[in-house]
Amino acid sequence: MPRNFSRVFTFVSLFFLLAACAAPVQTGTAASASPALTGAPISTSTFSSPTALPVPSATPTAPPQSQPDTGIISYVMDARLDYQAKTLNVKQDIDYPNTSGGPIADMLLAVEPNLIPGVFNLSSLSQDNQPVKPYSLTGQRLTWKLTAALPAGGKTHIHLEYQLALPQAQQGNPNVVRPQIFGVTARQVNLTDWYPMVVPFNAGGGWHLADPWFYGEHLVYPQANFDVTLRFSDPANAPVVAASAAPQPVDGGMRYVLERGRDFVLSMGRQMQVKSAQVEGVTISSYYYPGSEAGGQAVLDATSKALKTFGAFFGSYSHKSLAAVQGDFNDGMEFDGLYYLSNSFYNLYDGTPNNYLPMVAAHETSHQWWWGRVASDQAKSPWMDESLASYCEEIFYEKNYPDSVKWWWSVRIDFYQPSGMIDGDVPGYAGFAPYTNTVYKQGAHFFADLRLAMGDQDFFAFLKDYAAQMDGKIAAPGDFFRILKLHSSSDLNALLAKYFAHPPKI
Ligand SMILES: [Zn+2]
Repeated sequence: MPRNFSRVFTFVSLFFLLAACAAPVQTGTAASASPALTGAPISTSTFSSPTALPVPSATPTAPPQSQPDTGIISYVMDARLDYQAKTLNVKQDIDYPNTSGGPIADMLLAVEPNLIPGVFNLSSLSQDNQPVKPYSLTGQRLTWKLTAALPAGGKTHIHLEYQLALPQAQQGNPNVVRPQIFGVTARQVNLTDWYPMVVPFNAGGGWHLADPWFYGEHLVYPQANFDVTLRFSDPANAPVVAASAAPQPVDGGMRYVLERGRDFVLSMGRQMQVKSAQVEGVTISSYYYPGSEAGGQAVLDATSKALKTFGAFFGSYSHKSLAAVQGDFNDGMEFDGLYYLSNSFYNLYDGTPNNYLPMVAAHETSHQWWWGRVASDQAKSPWMDESLASYCEEIFYEKNYPDSVKWWWSVRIDFYQPSGMIDGDVPGYAGFAPYTNTVYKQGAHFFADLRLAMGDQDFFAFLKDYAAQMDGKIAAPGDFFRILKLHSSSDLNALLAKYFAHPPKI
């Protein structure tokens, strides 16, 4: 198509791709919801000269704080997939250590597949080798009362057997309905948040499981070890599989081990192709569909560059592999060791770095730090991962494509004239567009202004220390500001009051 038309089309389409992690494309309705396209993108931002980006310290990052293995949640899944029938039979074991400091009287597991009627069929549930009776399974909540409270420091073992009748993945208007990645499309099976999972437990506060909202994310994932075996009922016709960890062949399938991860995701398709590269000991794999070879290569390149850049500034990547998958839906989403990029990004890839495909690849890669290594409450404080991941796009361009930094501010951020306070919870933004414009785009301005106020040396030392101190943990805003204070000699209170409705005094 003509270049100018292509540009306008891209702009209109990408309005709905403005947020990387819950960002469907709605080209059919975009015209009515997109901002006026009559003028040039508005750039009001100041940005540092690319030369100001410091060279990361050669000093190795402090290793992750060690925890005994007995103190971490363990999942073992043995799953058999009938790819033709799209059913998954699973035997699952969970070892749960109560590290909350208080007793637990009632158990709760989050069962996301049960949010969709007819998908999750539980056939067996036992705890410490005793059948659990009765239990309640309502929406995403599987609960039961313990026969005896689990004391602080105690451990329990849960065994489940269930079948998933995989649903069709759903992609509606993001202003109305939350995208559903989990499920199947004509050529892809996505197992995301597919197993009963443990949520955080706080003594005094109980289990923490927010209700899903129609935009944004709601789950908080305690760190866990995963041992997942996937077998196929028809191994001779097994699909190509992307996963949160590297595969080890076993009879009839693959076994995957992911240590200290947040979740475990599988994505597969018979037509899926893969390109891989080794970057600093990490196997990066880009999975794509025929016809998207250039995009698949661009994602591999951008992810490799981003992993090196963020590893240098924030500490090494945590795992041995990272998969990027062409999502056969209009969405992008981070998971641990695997992330999705929208099919639409590949279709709109123009071979240049000034494009959503490499840009969002960098965004999703940064979530391996700000979501994976350092988790946070995605429903209550989405700025903690999304504002920072958005600003990491800027760092990616500044380090790798300095000529593109001005373009990034203009097209990605300031075109949308972001404003507002970034510390709202997800439902508080009253819509997908206000949420992303504030948390992602105004949030990027917060981090840019914070860097300007602190100076590069203190700013990057803060982020590296924040990643090290909160590695494997679930960070609260108080943790962020406590560590920030350690690294700032400036008075940041006026700056914080500009971006936070409830600014801390630091
Ligand atoms: Zn994101």
